[in-house]
Amino acid sequence: MPSEPIQKLLILQEKDRVRIDLEALLHSIPREIAANREKIAREEERAREAKEAVTQLEKRRNALEGDIEAWNAKIIRYRNQQLEVKKNEEYQALEHEIEAARSAISGLEDEEIQVLVDIDTGQAELESAEQTFRKSIAVLEERIAKLQTREKECREELAAAAREVESARAEAPSEFLEVYDRLLRHVPFPVAVPLREKKCQGCHLKVSAGVESDARQGKEIATCDSCGRLLYCE
Ligand SMILES: [Zn+2]
Repeated sequence: MPSEPIQKLLILQEKDRVRIDLEALLHSIPREIAANREKIAREEERAREAKEAVTQLEKRRNALEGDIEAWNAKIIRYRNQQLEVKKNEEYQALEHEIEAARSAISGLEDEEIQVLVDIDTGQAELESAEQTFRKSIAVLEERIAKLQTREKECREELAAAAREVESARAEAPSEFLEVYDRLLRHVPFPVAVPLREKKCQGCHLKVSAGVESDARQGKEIATCDSCGRLLYCE
């Protein structure tokens, strides 16, 4: 069984462990929230793009209809001109123009059919995208709300943990505390570790005979020759 000072230090270390874990969690939560917000922004962008694609197709259809109308108006004009011309060559030239206009209209109508098909496909895609969008946004929003609640709880838990650390520190022997605090700044947690089979359980290296004897007696502060952690015997 470890000596009394070590026992008190181990109590402090356990309190510090809770505090450190909570601090890490509090550090990670805002990043998680930000990542979820980014996902929402990406989903919104995708939905906007799907909508924009349909809008562009509708614009194209309107433009095509305008063009077809213009060609039809030309055909009427040519027909009227044909009534007025005297020479056969002039009549034939207009007939030629009318044929060209009809061929142009036919090409535009073919394109319009394709655009109408694309609009149908685009609209179906948009509807499905919007459904997925609403679902995933709901999931993401819920996740964010949970994280925010957890963050609030964490802050309260951390305040309580800090108070526990303070009372454990008041109990811990000051000479051990000094070494412990220094280690806390320089060595990865935990800083007080057991000695098993002459090996430090922090860095897993063998310690010297003197250190082993100190750790066994538990009166002097024993620290690992390699990593510097506080050592104790169970
Ligand atoms: Zn060590």
